[in-house]
Amino acid sequence: MQQAPHDPSRRSFTALTGLAALGGALGISPRFAHAQANASAPAQNAATRPARALRFAHFTDLHITPDRPSEPGMKKAFETAQADGIEMILTGGDLIMDSFATKREQVDREWALLHKLFAEHCKVPVEHCLGNHDIFGFCLSKAGLEGDEADFGYARALAELKLAARWRSFDRNGWHFIVLSSVERDPKDECGYLAYLNDEQRAWLEADLAATKLPTVVVSHVPIVTVTPAVRGGETERKNDKTVISGGLVHLDAPTVHGVFRKAGNVKLVLSGHMHLIDRCETDGVTYCCSGAVCGGWWKPTKTYCDPTYALIDLNTDGSFDYRIKPTGWTNS
Ligand SMILES: [Zn+2]
Repeated sequence: MQQAPHDPSRRSFTALTGLAALGGALGISPRFAHAQANASAPAQNAATRPARALRFAHFTDLHITPDRPSEPGMKKAFETAQADGIEMILTGGDLIMDSFATKREQVDREWALLHKLFAEHCKVPVEHCLGNHDIFGFCLSKAGLEGDEADFGYARALAELKLAARWRSFDRNGWHFIVLSSVERDPKDECGYLAYLNDEQRAWLEADLAATKLPTVVVSHVPIVTVTPAVRGGETERKNDKTVISGGLVHLDAPTVHGVFRKAGNVKLVLSGHMHLIDRCETDGVTYCCSGAVCGGWWKPTKTYCDPTYALIDLNTDGSFDYRIKPTGWTNS
């Protein structure tokens, strides 16, 4: 998600109101809605609990920068998740604060800190997903690029993370993982972007799912299906008695992509970030979860966005899963 200029809380009186209303309905404050969500998870005794195949953390929206307290915040997040016994971290994109509209010298600093933090504190394998802020210089004028540089666009992040392609899949412990790449340039807005799977990626997704019968986890940076626009402001607005959601906020091709998942029949869990809000919704047997943000409100105190969070996920051998939102334990309030 694009950060509001200067003050992340500025744009979201509407969102705060919506969250407050939601929290009020639940009898809880919005900042701690995730804790209540954890508490409401159905209890299972040991005899009926399915066997676990893999425990991993979904870390989304890290927004690492040396200019805000990312270093203690990330250190705490790694410590907390690893104390939970995770065997892998699956990131959700927006790994660095920004390279979409930021000059090279600053982008260099942010990637350098990311590598330092993962090297020093991450003890488990990592699989990365890319977000809008990880794309180098789509906003040419603000990034000071021409667009013909060797590391322009996705090339920089792929090289930094030693990834061969924007999207990919892999198997682990009897589950299939699909990592999507949601963000494309907006032909009408040099500094904008749109969320959808381009034709090549959509065809690849259909073929990839057709080739596996394993229960499947999908991760995209931008949500494909989400209820969060209903409770936030910013790019969601009412126009002429219609609710209009920005094409950069939620996948424009959600009906198509959900149709692919439904047809495949084995997509169990679809993870996203981007919103810095938490939700979970299920349709046609597919559960969509937006996992908040490891940076909370971009490493600043926030009453509008979520506290620093990650998702702790157990994948089970019977194809079921357990999904919990957890505080990283780092606060800046
Ligand atoms: Zn984003």
